[in-house]
Amino acid sequence: ASGGSREYKVVMLGAGGVGKSVMPFLSHLNVNVVLCFSEDAYKTQVRIDNEPAYLDILDTAGQAEFTAMREQYMRGGEGFIICYSVTDRQSFQEAAKFKELIFQVRHTYEIPLVLVGNKIDLEQFRQVSTEEGLNLAQEYNCGFFETSAALRFCIDDAFHGLVREIRKKESMP
Ligand code: GDP
Ligand code: MG
Repeated sequence: ASGGSREYKVVMLGAGGVGKSVMPFLSHLNVNVVLCFSEDAYKTQVRIDNEPAYLDILDTAGQAEFTAMREQYMRGGEGFIICYSVTDRQSFQEAAKFKELIFQVRHTYEIPLVLVGNKIDLEQFRQVSTEEGLNLAQEYNCGFFETSAALRFCIDDAFHGLVREIRKKESMP
């Protein structure tokens, strides 16, 4: 299929303070802010595997309750970036709940996801090991990236990885 002007609706999920709002800016994605509401949205155009991709990124506020707004963006997202901070075990525990929450709305586990453990520059404050992240990603059957927005490390890879997961799913019969 020609990915021509394909737009990808990406939703960022995760506890407060893990780095969701700085990540899109501390990448090389050159995002533009298109909406400043209770939740922010960014748009950008990148090339991934030599095919253009318009990213439509929704940055959520990460309330723990199951709000109507969350249900709405979980319905609209084509792929999800589930973020936690490697320095915050509680955020990892929250990350482990999202697949079930997405399932409650979408009634399928076949939703493209990537798991992101951010803030690896703060190694001395690490509370979540790489292995734990990998194990959760395995359970989620999704890609896993340890990132540092502060060091601009691996952020693009996480977004690219998600677009690849969406494309992979679409190419399946
Ligand atoms: P959000 O609540 O998930 O949107 O988190 P923010 O994007 O607002 O980030 C919360 C705080 O963590 C801010 O002070 C960021 O500067 C900081 N932060 C985000 N990513 C990193 C990172 O990779 N390393 C470090 N050291 N700080 C980070
Ligand atoms: Mg935020």
